[in-house]
Amino acid sequence: MLSKIFPKNAKSFKLKQINQKSMKITKNLITTIIQKPKRLPIIKPTHQNRTKRHFKTNQKTDDFLTENLKKMEYKNKEENDPKKIQKRVEEVTKILIESPKTETGTKLKENEIIRLLENQTWQEDEYLFKFADSIARRVFDNKVYFRGIIEFSNICQKNCFYCGIRKGNPYLKRFTMTREEILECVDKIHKLNFGCLLLQSGELTATNRMDYLVDLIKEIKKMTTNEQYPQGIGVVLSLGELSYSDLKRLKEAGAMRYLLRIESSNRELYEKIHPKNINHSFDTRLQCLQDLRKLSYQVGTGVMIGIPDQTLKDLANDVLFFKEMDIDMLGMGPYIPAKNTPMGDKIFQSKTHSEIQKDLLRSFQLTLRMYAISRVMMNEINIASTTALHAIHPFGREIALSSGANVMMPIVTPQNFREEYDLYDGKSKIDEIRDNYLIASEKRVQRSGKSIKYGAWNNPPHFDKRQKN
Ligand code: SF4
Repeated sequence: MLSKIFPKNAKSFKLKQINQKSMKITKNLITTIIQKPKRLPIIKPTHQNRTKRHFKTNQKTDDFLTENLKKMEYKNKEENDPKKIQKRVEEVTKILIESPKTETGTKLKENEIIRLLENQTWQEDEYLFKFADSIARRVFDNKVYFRGIIEFSNICQKNCFYCGIRKGNPYLKRFTMTREEILECVDKIHKLNFGCLLLQSGELTATNRMDYLVDLIKEIKKMTTNEQYPQGIGVVLSLGELSYSDLKRLKEAGAMRYLLRIESSNRELYEKIHPKNINHSFDTRLQCLQDLRKLSYQVGTGVMIGIPDQTLKDLANDVLFFKEMDIDMLGMGPYIPAKNTPMGDKIFQSKTHSEIQKDLLRSFQLTLRMYAISRVMMNEINIASTTALHAIHPFGREIALSSGANVMMPIVTPQNFREEYDLYDGKSKIDEIRDNYLIASEKRVQRSGKSIKYGAWNNPPHFDKRQKN
């Protein structure tokens, strides 16, 4: 099959049949990738093909991405046979270019998603990521959206096996920031002109907590309403599973988005990583996601990538789940073991340091592929480049911004609380808001050939379009 598409003398090969036009483009793209690994070809405007719409390159992003991918360990690092690489890249290209396109994105089947997750060379990832990035750049006009995260309380009534702030961790000093401390952070985010903030905490359904939050959101809206923000700064919540009536109260107080990760859409796997009791029910989580939609929140979800026993089929079905739920935002990241948790401790006891590092790199690569595949399938949703990527790779978040993600969420939690909000190992060490923060983050975003879009809520276009229909 391959020799028919790529004959020995590729340069003199002429396509004879008109219906092979798309294959010719595929061949050209792949041949150039192999010969000039630094850049993908620019599709000239004269090409009447479907790739033109999806695949315009940007040199700065391309160079940054390629340079970093080439430095990464790949399963087939020793593989030097260009024909084999070419065959693998051809498979990726064929899936991306030939799958049916809809208004919201490319339709991929489970087996095709699995194949893309199975990439084994940097060239395959390069093609997939650049394809996804070209969509993100077209939809978001080369812009990256920022939201400041305030982790205002580490008190949680749950005991998820993977989480560093689970109720059963006795080594944490529990805290809830005062209203004044939170408002100080809000003021900082507002002055930085991010346009949006995320209030995040462990899950606590007590009535006085809800009263506190309703009052807080109203105050945030009041203090940030001005000419530029006639409805105040955008307020996003990530507070775990809440009842319909609590979610309604928070919405009425002014919250507009809600992030609730499903963690795994495979019920069996979900149950493996949570205690088996009524407080950790898969059905309740699904119900909560549906309630959020009913209440007209912009709904975000996501999964952990690289958890023990998770298969590529699970991940493929996670993406299909996001699509089926018609979500507006994605917040997913690699699983990083946390100490003093059942899952983390088991890994620390049974694996060597280098085995753990290997697992982390695999989770990192899978996470990037999940971003890229999600972008290909859901063109207009917001995808956050998670902080956890930075814990594995110094340019993790920038690489994600070159692979389909379009949102960054810097942590604004004051340093004295951050040590106690260690969801996974190394999180509290990630430097975020400092005096020269904006300069540093602008540079960070520029590395991926993009710039920050300040001064607006920056809703996902997917949500705005749904509202109009
Ligand atoms: S994942 Fe969320 S709900 Fe579960 S223990 Fe951690 S903070 Fe609590």
